[in-house]
Amino acid sequence: MGMYENVKHQFDKAADLMGLDDGVRKILSITNTEIVVHFPVKLDNGTVEVFTGYRVQHNNALGPYKGGLRYHATVDIDAARALATWMTWKTSLAGLPYGGAKGGIQLDPKKYSNSELERITRRYTFALGDNIGPEHDIPAPDVNTTAQMMAWIADTYMSTKPPAERSKNQHVVTGKPVGSGGLEGRDRATGFGVVINIKEWAKLRGKSLRGMRFIVQGFGNVGYWTSHFLVQEGAVLIAVQDATGTIYNSKGINPEKLNEHAAPNYTGVKGFSGAESILSEHFFGLECDFIVPAALGNQITGENAGEIKASLVAEGANGPLGDGADEILLAKGVDIIPDILCNSGGVIASYFEWLQNRNGEIWYMDEVLSKLEARLIKSFDRVVKKAAEKKTDWRTAAYVEAIGRIELAYKQRGIFP
Ligand code: GLU
Repeated sequence: MGMYENVKHQFDKAADLMGLDDGVRKILSITNTEIVVHFPVKLDNGTVEVFTGYRVQHNNALGPYKGGLRYHATVDIDAARALATWMTWKTSLAGLPYGGAKGGIQLDPKKYSNSELERITRRYTFALGDNIGPEHDIPAPDVNTTAQMMAWIADTYMSTKPPAERSKNQHVVTGKPVGSGGLEGRDRATGFGVVINIKEWAKLRGKSLRGMRFIVQGFGNVGYWTSHFLVQEGAVLIAVQDATGTIYNSKGINPEKLNEHAAPNYTGVKGFSGAESILSEHFFGLECDFIVPAALGNQITGENAGEIKASLVAEGANGPLGDGADEILLAKGVDIIPDILCNSGGVIASYFEWLQNRNGEIWYMDEVLSKLEARLIKSFDRVVKKAAEKKTDWRTAAYVEAIGRIELAYKQRGIFP
């Protein structure tokens, strides 16, 4: 099942359960706008390469489109549609005044120099033109995109505006570096939020995180920060998998040391001296308390879900479970904290950054993290309560919450003309 089929399957289940209005169901079953751009960039060796970039805007009933940009070989229209749709649910569930969008460029950033990545990012921004905008569609980081790239996007977009309007447009993108409009704590917000969710889960199940063993797939921004905060809580990271390999240490892997090894130039976890290398197919079946998939979509499927021994899967990535994995895990009694709740700390912090820029304010780390925590605890609570009320799983309950808010907006406003 493709990612878009997966998100539609999840949507249909919730729509049936809640008796969603037929008209709203039709609107939300398809994306509003799909932008595909082909643009040329001169490489360092003087040759020209033409890149393909996407931006899909799923729905904006609740406010401007919002969602990240990813740079990855798997970026295509199907992925952009699915990821844009997930953003609509995510922002709605978090109670933000945003819709959902997603985009990116089909490329492997490892293959390009920093100056090539700068030219690619700027030219892509220019090609999108006024399809993005601070009150219209606000990108942010996602897989393989960085704060530096967000700064290039902001600068390129602002440079195309008349001088007096430039500084009013800083919030065209979030996830910028602190120092050029970025928010303190936005870098760690997604991982921090994943950990808040896991802490709430542990409380609910009457357990303590201290001494719990966990594994993480993907060691980018989300994988690293999630591990960082979990180890601070006394949990033990025993295995990590990424595109370069799978590493294991039953005594615990130090996330700070691993990050020093893995982060520079997208090196990855392979060859890390603080762990041994194991076969990738053994990863999800490892004996542990919980799993954090924080890489790409469709990683746990009907094929490997049966091997899982953990009692929780906390979705740091978007759409990591597909093809019947939910059904298998739920039947085994495994809890699933769904992506649109579990990784929503990122977009919530993006909202804070947007407010900070829009209102000419400066927010500080403590305030950001405590506001984030309060919002996430509320969301977690609402999802658990809705699941009990509707006698359903947490993912479907999260969808019912998210879609219900959008349905209400359509009912109140009606359909133009
Ligand atoms: N890319 C992140 C996500 O999937 C963040 C989006 C944002 O901050 O707009 O939620």
